[in-house]
Amino acid sequence: MKIKIAECAGFCFGVKRAINIAENALKGLKAKDNIYSLGPIIHNPQVVEGLFKKGLQVISDLEKIKDGTVIISSHGAPLEALKDIKEKGIKLIDATCPFVKYAQNIVKGLKKDGYRIIIVGDSAHPEIKALKSIAGKDKKSKKIGVISQTTQNKENYINEIKNILGEDFSEVKVFNTICNDTSKRQLATRSLLKDCDLMIVIGGKNSANTRRLWQICKESGVDSFHIETELEMKTKWFKGKDCIGITSGASTPDSMVKKIIERIRRF
Ligand code: SF4
Repeated sequence: MKIKIAECAGFCFGVKRAINIAENALKGLKAKDNIYSLGPIIHNPQVVEGLFKKGLQVISDLEKIKDGTVIISSHGAPLEALKDIKEKGIKLIDATCPFVKYAQNIVKGLKKDGYRIIIVGDSAHPEIKALKSIAGKDKKSKKIGVISQTTQNKENYINEIKNILGEDFSEVKVFNTICNDTSKRQLATRSLLKDCDLMIVIGGKNSANTRRLWQICKESGVDSFHIETELEMKTKWFKGKDCIGITSGASTPDSMVKKIIERIRRF
């Protein structure tokens, strides 16, 4: 049984950056200090748990927070939350990924120029909630601006663009805001699918980019499982398989990929 690992394993740039920002903030932590992240700083429960043990508390809203420091996650935060933090005089540390910021700036520009903004992505995801807050209310303009969630599957995006082109418009501006890391990971995963008869996708169940990698694997017809840790694997998955492909999301630590490979070897 062969094991092949996708070329782009390990943390992406934006995730590494957010974790460094959080760890630096935690270094100076005193007993009375409170440091929060607004939502999980990255979408990997095991990494978030590790940071929690060092003192980073995850909050879902700002209602009960009166002081301390709030770190904005790699996905960004809605304008209302940023305003709330400012009004309460809470210290803010922004760990929004620069690629997410780039998409936010495009939305700002489109709004200013009177475009109807279409965001292709998962509406419940924090990145999209933040973009929607910048876009504001739907405009009835015939000028349309289209952007994508940074972790979108390229094929999904192209299909949505085709649908939009069927609408009544005077002008359509399309931006490729899928980040490089996402594109590379999707490509590396597709390339493994050519050789492998089983795919293991590693990453947070709440991670949009990991779920998209899993979607790509499932759609190919190759047996595929999405796991967060080595403990979820079952021996029966590997029976009769010749080549196991390993791919991982942008917020999956190398150490977890290694643990999973070691366990597969033991199987
Ligand atoms: S997946 Fe891309 S957009 Fe998201 S944090 Fe990583 S580098 Fe940034």
